[in-house]
Amino acid sequence: MRLRDVADGEAMAGAEISSARAVGKHLLIEAGGTIFRSHMGMDGTWHSYAPGERWWKPEHTAGAVLDLGERLFVCFDLPSSDVFPSAELAVHPVLSKLGPDLCTEEVDFDEVLRRIRAPDQAAREAAELLLDQRVAAGIGNVYKSDLLLMHRIDPWAEVASLSDELLLAIYRDAHRLLRKNLTTPRRITAPRFLRHMRDKTPGAGLWVYNRNRRPCRMCGAVVQMARQGELARLTYWCPSCQTEGTRRG
Ligand SMILES: [Zn+2]
Repeated sequence: MRLRDVADGEAMAGAEISSARAVGKHLLIEAGGTIFRSHMGMDGTWHSYAPGERWWKPEHTAGAVLDLGERLFVCFDLPSSDVFPSAELAVHPVLSKLGPDLCTEEVDFDEVLRRIRAPDQAAREAAELLLDQRVAAGIGNVYKSDLLLMHRIDPWAEVASLSDELLLAIYRDAHRLLRKNLTTPRRITAPRFLRHMRDKTPGAGLWVYNRNRRPCRMCGAVVQMARQGELARLTYWCPSCQTEGTRRG
């Protein structure tokens, strides 16, 4: 293989791929004692091409090119990646801090709870906790909004105000949904609200995400949208259903 357009990618040149696996939202490809890590963020996509085939996106948006000779895999709009020796996996600045991976079959929920109850999480907002990959790896922005509606939690609720049982129930649901969606062509949290696999209605197959100003699927109230947290990620919620942990005054 050959990894192009990535800093230090030449370290893998000519080596055979020994493994490719997902860790949380990161994809790790290992070859010749070196690992290439990529994280798709919001917009990254991998395309597969035959040699000489015309690419669907402009060349300057290619963040990485994995050249296997008979096949070319091109990653467009890649926001985060790096190349490092396999021996340094355990001390990688991002990967070594990830919580239990919710996409794997067995999850250590005691460890998830221990991380939820870390002192620096107590004063944080519920929506921010769910996105924190150091607590558990796998929950993205879509699942965040939907899980909070499913459990009727105010996205701004202080983590310390929520019970262990409630928080663990959220992470168990996240595990179930992430596992279920590993083999589906799209993310579905509410199958009864998906008419068919190509349904393009905003929020189709989801509980609340992308349903701003539409009726709540549980109670009919108007769904709200706001930017939340340091990264100003979009949160969709139903003010009528989601009152658990709402701060008074
Ligand atoms: Zn509602």
